[in-house]
Amino acid sequence: MTAPAPIPLLAVPTVPLLALDTVWFQVAGTVCNLTCSHCFITCGPTNRRHAMMTRAEVRPYLDEALGLGARDLYFTGGEPFLNRELLAILEDALAIAPTTVLTNATLIGPDLAARLRALERGSRYSLEMRVSLDGLDAAANDALRGEGSFAEALAGLRELARAGFDPIVTVAQTWDEADDAAMRERFHDTLRAEGLPRPRVKVLPLFRVGREVARTRGYAETERLTPEHMLGFDIASLQCSSSRMVTSRGVHVCPILIDAPDALLGRTLRESMRSYPLAHGACHTCWATGATCRN
Ligand code: SF4
Ligand code: SF4
Repeated sequence: MTAPAPIPLLAVPTVPLLALDTVWFQVAGTVCNLTCSHCFITCGPTNRRHAMMTRAEVRPYLDEALGLGARDLYFTGGEPFLNRELLAILEDALAIAPTTVLTNATLIGPDLAARLRALERGSRYSLEMRVSLDGLDAAANDALRGEGSFAEALAGLRELARAGFDPIVTVAQTWDEADDAAMRERFHDTLRAEGLPRPRVKVLPLFRVGREVARTRGYAETERLTPEHMLGFDIASLQCSSSRMVTSRGVHVCPILIDAPDALLGRTLRESMRSYPLAHGACHTCWATGATCRN
């Protein structure tokens, strides 16, 4: 008896949307006061590829997210605090779900930190502040994020801590995997020494798209997912199985691929609720690292 022929597998695996747990908003578009050399969406002061979102534009997506059962909301950019309507948008968000803001913290002074804290106190949901810092000292951080950004980010972090937040500090993994535990510990120590009593550190992998391509390299042809990669893999660990990203253009599959034309899935969240082929090099990074942009 001959063995049955193998079932032919399609060349590119797909990810279903299992549930819409998380909705992201590119609320500052691609406008940022920094021009980090590893920014995977190439943000900067003059990059208006994705526009800022107004409160009126965000509102219908919040209503839709609530109706579809979303459990948490994230606001990012660019630099969200460049959006003058951000606090009003956060007020709307905090009326319906736990909310996180991703910021470089360089624009956060005592007044803004206090207003953010007041917003949280007025809500039944939590407001998390997430701050990017990519080095243990100014030399290491500023080489990636620009001169003076280490001191400015730490000043912002201290203001947030004074106002009562325990910010999450996100760090791009620029070191070897083997050094991971030691580097996390060093970041905790550094942040404590800088006056943050309860630091929380989240390490994120580098995505080889956007400006990172010029800094190091892009993806190799071999860094693509095939159906074999998915054998025994828990697809629910991919953030695109449970979240979507809203920009001024519509709804994208995830926060990483907002510049990929095929990743724009529709105008509304409901339109975006379909499977997506994992054909990008960045998908390989998610698969290999288990990375999620969530807290
Ligand atoms: S990595 Fe963040 S802070 Fe840096 S340019 Fe991009 S959006 Fe701005
Ligand atoms: S880059 Fe990551 S999150 Fe985005 S579609 Fe690919 S696997 Fe999903």
